[in-house]
Amino acid sequence: MKYEAVIGLEVHAQMRTESKIFCGCSTRFGSEPNTQTCEICIGMPGVLPVLNKKALEFAIRTGLAMGCTISAYSRFARKNYFYPDLPKGYQISQFEHPICEHGHVDVAVDGETKRVRITRIHMEEDAGKNIHEGGGNYSFVDLNRAGVPLMEIVSEPDIRSPKEASEYMKKLRTILRYLGVCDGNMDQGSLRCDANVSVRPVGQKEYGTRAEVKNINSFRFVEKAIDYEIRRQIRVVEEGGKVVQETRLWDSAKGITESMRSKEEAHDYRYFPEPDLVPIAAERRWIDELRASLPELPDAKKVRFVSAYGLPEYDADLLTSEKAVAEWFEEAVKAGGQPKAVSNWMMGDLMKLLNGDNREIGDCPVGPERLAGMLKLIDKGTISGKIAKTVFEEMYRSGKDAEQIVREKGLLQISDESAIEKTVDELIARHPAEVERFRGGEEKLLGFFVGQAMKAMKGKANPQVLNELLKKKLS
Ligand code: ADP
Ligand code: MG
Ligand code: ZN
Repeated sequence: MKYEAVIGLEVHAQMRTESKIFCGCSTRFGSEPNTQTCEICIGMPGVLPVLNKKALEFAIRTGLAMGCTISAYSRFARKNYFYPDLPKGYQISQFEHPICEHGHVDVAVDGETKRVRITRIHMEEDAGKNIHEGGGNYSFVDLNRAGVPLMEIVSEPDIRSPKEASEYMKKLRTILRYLGVCDGNMDQGSLRCDANVSVRPVGQKEYGTRAEVKNINSFRFVEKAIDYEIRRQIRVVEEGGKVVQETRLWDSAKGITESMRSKEEAHDYRYFPEPDLVPIAAERRWIDELRASLPELPDAKKVRFVSAYGLPEYDADLLTSEKAVAEWFEEAVKAGGQPKAVSNWMMGDLMKLLNGDNREIGDCPVGPERLAGMLKLIDKGTISGKIAKTVFEEMYRSGKDAEQIVREKGLLQISDESAIEKTVDELIARHPAEVERFRGGEEKLLGFFVGQAMKAMKGKANPQVLNELLKKKLS
């Protein structure tokens, strides 16, 4: 029997606000434990939370970008559970009245567009962090993270494969970063997800029983954890068993999911309306302002990059995956770079150098005008495309512009026929056997001669002139 997987993701995104969601403490990552705390976020009795307006704005912006309805009435709820990293004994979250509902995100998977519906986006506070180190018979708790604002983005069970799940998650990250509402830093936990997974025989309408896999913090693990979970469930069913509804933990070291606890139901949390916070009725006018101020989003940008610059979909997709990359591209084109050439250099040499240094495009030592300047030198025939690779790397390392480097290093392309002819004559004299074979019909040997000539001329020969001369002399 063939099975189909059904997947829904609950993604937690840490909002990039300066201060926490219900108090003025800083949200900065990596400080000394418990230095960013106050009476409110450590849960002292008798204090009152106040909603951070920026957090509300970020949640609404996200909802608008994902085509959600923004609720005219929204409110917070207490989600009760006991854990040492949750000093109040409840988490302030949203339950019946989330701020955003009924949106969607389009995801490209293997050349096809797949729509994943968003059930809801709600706001909540993060918990602290338990630290089990030191070796003694005790643990520590760091409450710097307690009260940091989160958005939980819940999808409908529209996802059908591990790959779709990771692409969906990547798309969410891209959108959140475009909006500037989350830094998307997965290794710092700014973006994490729980995956709900079930399987059913192909053709069956009803969903199977799901397990919820927690603790997934990278795109690779989204795929691996879900893939493992699908196989596990199919095995259970094929062996005549039943999948039980439960919460499982992804163990990235072992590459497996393990049962953690039976699935809790909403009533286990004894949700009730948060009495210390007033309901939210966001003004329409404000929402309209936020909608009008949304940046051009990745899907729209991609379509425009294809139509306005004549780029292949593949290029447009890569160049629009980060807003800063897209802006860099457009500046280089504005400075006179031919779009496809700019794209090639960005996706090739530029990305390679940046990745090698673990740098973002924002910290790139070569500015877009500099790349455009170098492309002009190639177009004019001042330097060869091959030499340009050296020039580009030198621009990147030294911060100098292309013309200066070409001048200082004597990298001007040699187009003068007599200079090239000398090299070609020498080559032909030195390789009589190859010349013979070429004349006998082994035309691919032309590449050998081109390579040798380029080597002799340190890559500076004008390739067109060189090719023509070689063909003439060899025939
Ligand atoms: P909770 O996990 O808090 O009980 P929900 O019941 O609303 O919340 O479901 C959470 C997630 O589980 C959603 O992303 C939803 O799409 C997904 N989901 C619900 N039913 C299934 C199912 N049978 N198989 C896979 N995912 C499911
Ligand atoms: Mg859940
Ligand atoms: Zn605080």
